[in-house]
Amino acid sequence: MPEQPQILATLKEYFGYDTFRPLQQEIIHSIFEGKDNLVIMPTGGGKSICYQLPAILLPGITLVISPLIALMKDQVDGLLANGIAAAYVNSSQHPDEQQEIYQKVLDKEIKLLYVAPESLSFLDTILSQVKVSLVAIDEAHCISAWGHDFRPAYTQLGYLKSKFPETPVIALTATADKATRQDICDQLNIPEATQHLASFDRKNLSLEVRPGNKRIEQIYNFLSDKPNQSGIIYCLSRKTTEALAEKLNDKGYKAEAYHAGIDHQKRSQVQEDFINDTTQIVCATIAFGMGIDKSNVRWVIHYNLPKNIEGYYQEIGRAGRDGLPSSTLLFHSYADVVQLQKFADMSGNKEVQLAKLDRMKQYAESLSCRRKILLSYFGELIEEDCGNCDVCNDPPTFIDGTIIAQKALSCVTRIKEQEPIGTVIDVLRGAQNAAVYDKEYQNLKTYGIGNDIAWRDWQQYIIQLINQGYLEIAFHQNNKLKLTSLSKKILFEGEKISLAHLKELEKAKQPVVIQ
Ligand code: ADP
Ligand code: ZN
Repeated sequence: MPEQPQILATLKEYFGYDTFRPLQQEIIHSIFEGKDNLVIMPTGGGKSICYQLPAILLPGITLVISPLIALMKDQVDGLLANGIAAAYVNSSQHPDEQQEIYQKVLDKEIKLLYVAPESLSFLDTILSQVKVSLVAIDEAHCISAWGHDFRPAYTQLGYLKSKFPETPVIALTATADKATRQDICDQLNIPEATQHLASFDRKNLSLEVRPGNKRIEQIYNFLSDKPNQSGIIYCLSRKTTEALAEKLNDKGYKAEAYHAGIDHQKRSQVQEDFINDTTQIVCATIAFGMGIDKSNVRWVIHYNLPKNIEGYYQEIGRAGRDGLPSSTLLFHSYADVVQLQKFADMSGNKEVQLAKLDRMKQYAESLSCRRKILLSYFGELIEEDCGNCDVCNDPPTFIDGTIIAQKALSCVTRIKEQEPIGTVIDVLRGAQNAAVYDKEYQNLKTYGIGNDIAWRDWQQYIIQLINQGYLEIAFHQNNKLKLTSLSKKILFEGEKISLAHLKELEKAKQPVVIQ
């Protein structure tokens, strides 16, 4: 193993840093000891140095498996700029270019070779002729169907350990819960790998969730005290990214859309302009961000609910990499949940995806410290509430919600559990519309008994009832609201329940009348 002073000198010489970040040093030592390692470190935590620095000092070549071609080029350019002999091979290159790199590899002129998993098989004979000192697998969660970004090509990577049994493997990812971690190690043939778990707590990111009503106006508001601050708005659909970018431009912001349907050149341009602060806002699908090294992203908005907490955490993690306070805002709407539910239904591993979506929903609907929920998802428990999330900053007060609950539940009973939330609220509020008249709900006893509560507040109260288990949404039956086994406790057994007081009501000076 190289001596410590040499390791530190390398850190300084090639990366310009005097000290290691948490875990980097012990990971690097573990590699030099020849062990296999799994590194779980949040985006921006400094994963790259964990294999790049050993690569410089190890005698042979370090093979880096990386899923994104765009990301590879950036990494290699960065390394070359620091005087580190790096190269990449992927399918976008001309065969001549590939040959040239192969030759350099054979001539031992390359220390780090980046390759996409799909291109690995072409390298097989070359790699048999050189000494491979380290195998690094970036974005290692892609190997696991338990992860959130499964890529079939990754599943072949287990053969690397068989091909190079003496070579240490380091797998790295920003996102993996416990089950995924073990799955990654098993599939890579490194079941005994040392796991290094960095803290996921990014204290400088404030967390906020708001109901997804009038989102565009909320965004204008949010931006009003952030002139020229870089930010990303994540959307579920390509169409939304474009529509949103257009609206923001109309408002005078410099915004661009980014999604996988935009041609490669334009996408690179958008990235570059964002990194150089020429473009302030990127409205993007989740295609945007992997590997973007921009430290001063000051805010991230999720226009739609992400499909799981791993993705959400990775995306908000793109804000505030420089450690300065940064804001995140998530819009939560039931329409999104329904949409995501459909995607999950159609996916290969439906059960896992639905369970993950459920956790995401619980986070969005939480009435206690959000950071606690987020970190506990990654297996990290914090004792104190964080003081930097919307719930901590403005904790809900609770009111006796028994009568509200009784009204809602009896309305659901009267309409025979045949309607979604919206119509239930219409009936409660005595709306005069087709949804009501078509089925003659105006003749029900519960028609209009809730007209003292605003529509949106009803929506929030009903969501709370769902979260407490008194109602459920039948996602497979057009989202009809259904009673549960707990409902009868409220309807017939006199059970009392608390509901979070809705602050919107206070602002509107429209108190809940509890009769
Ligand atoms: P990750 O791959 O975990 O998202 P990176 O490896 O891209 O993170 O590192 C994120 C940023 O932190 C980069 O700008 C990198 O140069 C910087 N960084 C990494 N290690 C250190 C260190 N020991 N000291 C200071 N900055 C570091
Ligand atoms: Zn909190």
